[in-house]
Amino acid sequence: MKKLYIQFSILAVLSIAIAATNLNHSTMGDALHHNYMDTTVNPGNDFYRYAVGNWIKNNPVPASESRWGSFNEVEERNKKILLNILESAAISNDPIGSNRRRIGDFYKSGMDSEILEKQGIEPLNPFLTEIKKMKNVDDLNALLAKWQSEGNGMLFSFSVDQDLKESSQMIPYFNQGGLSMPDRDYYINSDDKSIKLRSELENTMVSVFKLMGEVDADARPHAHIVMQMETRLAKASMDRVTMRDPYASYHKMTLQAFTNDLSSNTNWLVMVKHFGLPKVDSVIVGQPDFFKEVNKMMTELTIQDWKTYLRWQLIRDAAPYLSHKFVSEHFRFYSTILRGVKSQKSREERVMKVVEGMMGEAVGQIFVAKNFQAEAKARMLKMVKNLQDAFRDRIQKLDWMSAETKVKATEKLNKFMVKIGYPDKWKDYSTCKIKNQHFVLNVMEASKYEYNRMIAKYGSPVDKTEWGMPPQMVNAYYNPSLNEIVFPAGILQPPFFDMNADDAMIYGAIGAVIGHEMTHGFDDQGCQFDAEGNLKMWWTDEDKKLFDAKTAMVVSQFDKYTLLDDVHVNGKLTLGENIADLGGLMIALEAFKRTDEGKKNLVVHGVPADQRFFLSWANAWKNNITEAALRQRIMTDPHSPGEFRTNGPVSNMDDFYKAFNIKSGNMFKPEKERAKIW
Ligand SMILES: [Zn+2]
Repeated sequence: MKKLYIQFSILAVLSIAIAATNLNHSTMGDALHHNYMDTTVNPGNDFYRYAVGNWIKNNPVPASESRWGSFNEVEERNKKILLNILESAAISNDPIGSNRRRIGDFYKSGMDSEILEKQGIEPLNPFLTEIKKMKNVDDLNALLAKWQSEGNGMLFSFSVDQDLKESSQMIPYFNQGGLSMPDRDYYINSDDKSIKLRSELENTMVSVFKLMGEVDADARPHAHIVMQMETRLAKASMDRVTMRDPYASYHKMTLQAFTNDLSSNTNWLVMVKHFGLPKVDSVIVGQPDFFKEVNKMMTELTIQDWKTYLRWQLIRDAAPYLSHKFVSEHFRFYSTILRGVKSQKSREERVMKVVEGMMGEAVGQIFVAKNFQAEAKARMLKMVKNLQDAFRDRIQKLDWMSAETKVKATEKLNKFMVKIGYPDKWKDYSTCKIKNQHFVLNVMEASKYEYNRMIAKYGSPVDKTEWGMPPQMVNAYYNPSLNEIVFPAGILQPPFFDMNADDAMIYGAIGAVIGHEMTHGFDDQGCQFDAEGNLKMWWTDEDKKLFDAKTAMVVSQFDKYTLLDDVHVNGKLTLGENIADLGGLMIALEAFKRTDEGKKNLVVHGVPADQRFFLSWANAWKNNITEAALRQRIMTDPHSPGEFRTNGPVSNMDDFYKAFNIKSGNMFKPEKERAKIW
């Protein structure tokens, strides 16, 4: 019952999107919010606070959130629409088997707090009995395989996806997993905050074991065992910076070799059969060391220890869908302690998030029917084309890329598949048996449906029409294996996209997001995937050398950024995203300069167009964040904090200094220190 089975490609990314035509600006409202600005700040010292400083002061993080920014503002609008869709589906009594009935029943099951309170942990009893029955390692393997086939994978991560090196083939992937905290470093770091987090997690385990009523006297030794096991798994896991190298996690082998060389306590030939796969030749093992450690643990630990571990993992996954006391304990650690969220959202909102997250396209199909205009798609397509043209011209002018690589780069750019709004072909939910039953069982059913869909892909041609995000999501992505850029309907709203805004505002926001996603095809990872989506370096050694020298400037620039005195941005972890922001903004600006507003640098509502472009960029990334969430994201998020996503790229751009007439200040970089990649 992992929350979302959405298959982000290995190199999943973030983002946004739009375009506008020339409108009569004198008759419409100004898309630029002057009241967000803090003009007491010198833009050369801190452009982010100059552009949105007042917004930051006046919009603290709400108690039910860990951060608050432009993305949340859009989500807030979407929330009302989505709640309305689910509430009306829940009372409409649609025919059984229809998608609207499925999402209505799912929502109702989550809202029925009386049943959830009455039944407590009861729906999990069959699973707890299965754990109890285990006697040896063979039983452990059998149970892991059975649960995997039900969409309830544990201990490691299993998926079927495009082979990175042969993108036309689907192949099974085995990756590290099994942890209760978001990253291995939480178990390894020796600073006070990490130690405190570990002890809080252990306290949560103690409380939950007690709530389960399964542990007689003291639950602490049980919690301690789980912590020890997870620490071993963490120490054998690969760190995030290493994982950015796609080759580091690509170890193709036969199932026989996987069994013989890495994990002789598990017969993977038998396991994958139970997973529901037909005959499998090869698989890709992400982190061989992790599986070697799991193998050792299988025999070094007692079956009793494994029972304790699985009991915890089962309840941890299920807790948000059970009675109040389990929900609260889960919230206390995962939201309050880990992310600084003070109070829970309403039940309506929490259930809505689960249903729209797990049945994304069933909800999304209704969402877009009412909330997406055909002209938005047309404008987006036009804007994408303008950005492509600008990018193509810039590639020709690059001083560091060889002529032969420029030909390939242009080919890759021309071959981008562009998806906007929503899928042409919707998921078929006819085998998804959501019904009038306990909420957690519906969550499991939705997981199982996604698992079966994933398994069915094995041995079939790659479905290029598939979407990795539901249409209502406020985000966007580039997928290197399909060489595609995708902009869901959810993000095509202000402040990212606005049919009524002038071009400067639009190009500075969604334009830069389009550019950001495009640039991912050419960043330190994108250069390793060719136009067909295969993991294959398509640059010359010399190209890569010159590119690395330029990106080293970006790494050291972001390494220097700190928050709260002791929170340092990791320049290597965020490199790909920082390159994409810098490249995306430059390409969007080039494309904007080709519009009428850009050519003449028109003054709109009293502000020159070039200033509006950069102010719009800052507006897209404005946000406040709790200290806990900031500390978590800095360890796990490949994106820099909003402040540096704003100030980092612009401080490398000549046009920025020119627009605001900046000749000195904290952000000012002399020309030779400005990173220029695209
Ligand atoms: Zn990105």
